[in-house]
Amino acid sequence: ASEALKADAEPFDGLKRVHVIGAGVMGGDIAAWCALSGFEVTLQDLDAGAVDRAVERAQQLFAKRARRQPARDNVRARLIADPEGNGIANADLIIEAVVEREDVKQALFRDLEARAKPSAVLASNTSSIALARISRAMDDPSRLVGVHFFNPVAQLPLVEVIHDAGTDAAVVERARGFVVAIRKYPLVVKSGPGFLVNRVLGPYMLDALRRVDEGESIDVIDAAAVAFGMPMGPVELADTVGLDICLAVATELGIEAPADGRLRQHVAAGNLGSKTGQGYLSWT
Ligand code: NAD
Repeated sequence: ASEALKADAEPFDGLKRVHVIGAGVMGGDIAAWCALSGFEVTLQDLDAGAVDRAVERAQQLFAKRARRQPARDNVRARLIADPEGNGIANADLIIEAVVEREDVKQALFRDLEARAKPSAVLASNTSSIALARISRAMDDPSRLVGVHFFNPVAQLPLVEVIHDAGTDAAVVERARGFVVAIRKYPLVVKSGPGFLVNRVLGPYMLDALRRVDEGESIDVIDAAAVAFGMPMGPVELADTVGLDICLAVATELGIEAPADGRLRQHVAAGNLGSKTGQGYLSWT
């Protein structure tokens, strides 16, 4: 479906401007994908360098895409570095992809609620934190919806659209329509530990990491999964997802990651997988 991507997609249901907060692995790629899909995108991060790096990564994606399908308009101009967050006031949709911490997300949405247009959809890309916990500090929690992309964004079509009993049905529908408008596959699911995909994938990855602690070779584990038909092994997947994210997912799912295990040791050392160049595997 992504091959059919048009450079000048029609904005969906009044959604034209997207503001993305967090320009890391996910936010940067989400912003790039939305720009490719015809939306006007502003990209914010506490770290201005992260925004610059994400925009540079996006240019590579745009160039690659243009070789296959010449752009009919200037996609580069649709992705704007916005470290100050000036895009918040005009955005129709705000997607949060900052660090996986409940307190940080709570504070962020509390602030966004006051600064965004009343009609703006407020969305979190959280991997695991229940919507009700993120929205706890908001005056109107019904505005918050989960829009959960998978890594790498440009390659994986699935996006979970997460709601709970408190979410406004019209907000869920707009989020679902947005996902269709960016040529992804929306899976509307109820909020709950790990939602659907990480509920299933989390234990699989974490059991594989436990096998590593028990002395099994990473090559053997990953080769077995690939031979079984998975596109990559669970250890490589954990490194790709980010070991900090894996640890957060484990916590949400109530799976204990042993203090003396390699997962916690890697995270404590800042070796978070592919995004830092080192995790269970070396990525340099
Ligand atoms: P990351 O560490 O690569 O990026 C997070 C970025 O957020 C950093 O650049 C950081 O500077 C910035 N940031 C932190 N606090 C901020 C704030 N208050 N305001 C603005 N920017 C802030 O993390 P990531 O892997 O991109 O994950 C981001 C979110 O996406 C998390 O909620 C994570 O659970 C979720 N997610 C991750 C994956 C994955 O595979 N990595 C997949 C789906 C969802």
